[in-house]
Amino acid sequence: MPQWGLIAAAALAGISGMAGCARPDAAAGGADAGLAAEIREIKAIDNHAHPVRRVAAGEKPDRGFDALPVESMEPESDPVALRSGFPAMAEAARALYGGQSKAQMMAAKGEQYPSWVLDQMGVETMLANRVEMGSSIEPPRFRWVPYADALIFPLDNAQLAARTPDRQGFFALEDQLRQHYLDMLGMKQIPGTLGEYLARVVRPTLERQKQGGAVAEKFEAAYLRPLAFDAVDEETAARIYGRFAAGRGAPGEAEYKPLQDFLFRYIAAECGRLGMAVHIHTMAGAGGYFDVAGANPLNLESVLNDASLRKTKFVMLHGGWPFIREIAALLAKPNAYLDFSQQSLMLPPATLAGNLREWLELNPEKVLFATDAYPYSNEMGWEESGWIASRNGREALAIALTGMMRDREITRARASELARMVLRENARALYGL
Ligand SMILES: [Zn+2]
Repeated sequence: MPQWGLIAAAALAGISGMAGCARPDAAAGGADAGLAAEIREIKAIDNHAHPVRRVAAGEKPDRGFDALPVESMEPESDPVALRSGFPAMAEAARALYGGQSKAQMMAAKGEQYPSWVLDQMGVETMLANRVEMGSSIEPPRFRWVPYADALIFPLDNAQLAARTPDRQGFFALEDQLRQHYLDMLGMKQIPGTLGEYLARVVRPTLERQKQGGAVAEKFEAAYLRPLAFDAVDEETAARIYGRFAAGRGAPGEAEYKPLQDFLFRYIAAECGRLGMAVHIHTMAGAGGYFDVAGANPLNLESVLNDASLRKTKFVMLHGGWPFIREIAALLAKPNAYLDFSQQSLMLPPATLAGNLREWLELNPEKVLFATDAYPYSNEMGWEESGWIASRNGREALAIALTGMMRDREITRARASELARMVLRENARALYGL
């Protein structure tokens, strides 16, 4: 899930942004030109994105790129960088397709098109946050990150959905995805007890995804509830499950929450056992009803402090914006990481550089490059958003490291080393790629 949708609806006049102010050279924002050039050449691992499968003419369009696609949401005030007509989109299209159209390039590259897009972004490996993988989005260039939210909301979600118009749409999609997971197991409905649900649905689903190549499980829970997942004993969770399973009514938010909390921690522990990371959306998200305070990464502190979950690596996606200092403090937890996806698309490089610098000065081995490439519209496809975020992210990194060099915090050699860590080595170590 990206942050903002409906950019076409916000095709507002008077977007100034960077219009008319061409990017002069590598030394954007006062970055060291040599370092910036070096950073542009590093083949990256993109920690989080939503690539779209190439489909043949006449085939159904790919819908597997998100469990909660944003086009079903009510309009909101989109940030400038995501509005139709923002100059970076045309720059990206020129860089990607030259004089051709996107459709011509797609036809010319065929099945290789998505990999070709990665080449243009300077990305060697992209973690593909998708419901399922498929032809043209395959290892080794693409690694799978499926969705786990549907598993923590197994009951009748009517009362949760009633909270906002956007959640109405989201929970319908989560119910569909859970049904898909049940179908894959040959089941029509969830079993009657929590014990059976864990043994026959949750564990087999995670194991199937691991076997299918998943390197992490993604939670978009911040769109559906606050991120405060408390420690709850199985007996309490089982009572709630047993009371409402099999169509015995829809629980209210307060009575349902302990079951969700238990399931989140159970899945996190299973991910640790299976060698998958846990990805969590931590950022103000898409939609005018998004619960920004609920997405504050500090809500995750008790999860990160759970001694039984120390084998699980948690990656807080999108760098927690606007809570970039709160997330910085959490990086001290041994199993906590962040990526700066979406910030790399939404924020100008100089602004992102300030955020990056705060993290790099504290725990540089916990910071991961990412784009959140996403098919917002034809004008801003996953190709364009990925290209822009990759360029911005690299420029921001060059600016941040140059500032640290100028202030004698690091040497030039260490700047190179940190750039490689952020762009690829940290992710390689984290996922064992
Ligand atoms: Zn995303």
